Amino acid sequence: MQVSDQPNSNNLVPNLLTSLTPIGSETFDSKNPPSPELIDACVHCGFCLSTCPSYRIIGKETDSPRGRIYLMDGINEGDIPLSPAIAQHFDTCLGCLACVTTCPSGVQYDQLIEATRAQVERNHPRSLPEKLLRQFIFATFPYPNRLRVLLAPLLAYQKLGLQKLLRSTGWLEKFLPQQLKAMESVLPDLTPESFKDQLPEVIPAKGEKRYRVGMILGCVQRVFLPEVNNATVRVLTANGCEVVIPKLQGCCGALTHHQGQEAQTLELAKQTIDTFAHLNLDAVLINASGCGHTLKEYGHILKDDRQYAAKAKEFSSKVKDVQEFLDHVGLTAKLSPLQDQPLAIAYQDACHMLHGQKISLEPRRLLRQIPNVQLRESIDASLCCGSAGIYNILQPEVGHELGEMKVTNLTDTGAEVIASANVGCITQIRKHLKLQNKNVLLMHPMQLLDYSIQGKKLN
Ligand code: SF4
Ligand code: SF4
Repeated sequence: MQVSDQPNSNNLVPNLLTSLTPIGSETFDSKNPPSPELIDACVHCGFCLSTCPSYRIIGKETDSPRGRIYLMDGINEGDIPLSPAIAQHFDTCLGCLACVTTCPSGVQYDQLIEATRAQVERNHPRSLPEKLLRQFIFATFPYPNRLRVLLAPLLAYQKLGLQKLLRSTGWLEKFLPQQLKAMESVLPDLTPESFKDQLPEVIPAKGEKRYRVGMILGCVQRVFLPEVNNATVRVLTANGCEVVIPKLQGCCGALTHHQGQEAQTLELAKQTIDTFAHLNLDAVLINASGCGHTLKEYGHILKDDRQYAAKAKEFSSKVKDVQEFLDHVGLTAKLSPLQDQPLAIAYQDACHMLHGQKISLEPRRLLRQIPNVQLRESIDASLCCGSAGIYNILQPEVGHELGEMKVTNLTDTGAEVIASANVGCITQIRKHLKLQNKNVLLMHPMQLLDYSIQGKKLN
């Protein structure tokens, strides 16, 4: 495909249209296509291109925000078919929302890609292997109890040394399909805690109770990083919060929402709202950025549902990222240094925290309160790490390159610790730290605060 990659090219539309040969007859249906008004807000200036991770790696206009907006417009107008080649350009979007932050014209690309993804899922027939992989992910990842059924063989795979053996002999590299290889490569070390939720339903505040908060455990996080949830509870209770963790809570729907699975997302969102209803909470807290962004969007996601529209708005108004909440209410627990010497920490901005929720100062302010901590900023700090939910599984090559870049940039800061507040970013960064043989600690900010409150040292 020959299209101009020049940010300010005036010939983009003709170039794109003439170079895209119709392959199939699929097109958008009439149910909420990407809005022509939102599309028209784009003035084609190209400012967003340099901050777009897919454009940075793939280097084609069609894999940039501006190019994708052209494609949406072309499909809306009937000039471009929703062919497999075109759908692939939407699939390569990480949904990181960096373009939303950058765009001087306020183009709501988030809404455009959200509508487009749902259209692609409804109207673009995927290949059988692709379909099976997606169905497997959507049928297991959002359901911790189903995911746990798969864990027993995976635990055996890790504990019996099979993982080490297959990785070291290069067997996985040679024989596993690329996407399964990518899935295997981000599998964290499993512990007995992965198999069962251990936290009680109500955990009292330590000392005087200041707030009563609900906590969302996350579907993948509670299985793969239960230690982050445990640390979050300890930090909250130490700071005067009574923590309520409804047993029946499931997935918030972030994973399916980001992939255009509308019906499943609506069902999961309603379930989450019902689970947290009538608990008399001051706030509903989440410690994973992707989930936090979706939870705050419930009002928009359920706007057309007569029964849930108002409830969804009310629920979303209570949702706070845990760092946002703690920064707002203030830490009351005493903090101790994590080591006797100055400790350099690089805080990694997760996209749905930075671009989606506009939270960047709050986590840094919290970390700075730990004695001896010095924060370091990496170059390209606002560029996606390539995890992006399940992007690193579905688009392993682009995900891999971004992961490599992210870890190089973070470790180039010389930091002894990387702090990351998203389960997907943590697994992606951990994988690339290992691949690059970098011995740097990787922790969630809640874990660092927990250590500090407990007076524990890092080494
Ligand atoms: S999305 Fe915004 S920044 Fe990008 S080309 Fe359009 S107007 Fe310019
Ligand atoms: S969401 Fe991210 S990957 Fe997608 S177009 Fe915007 S900047 Fe590029």
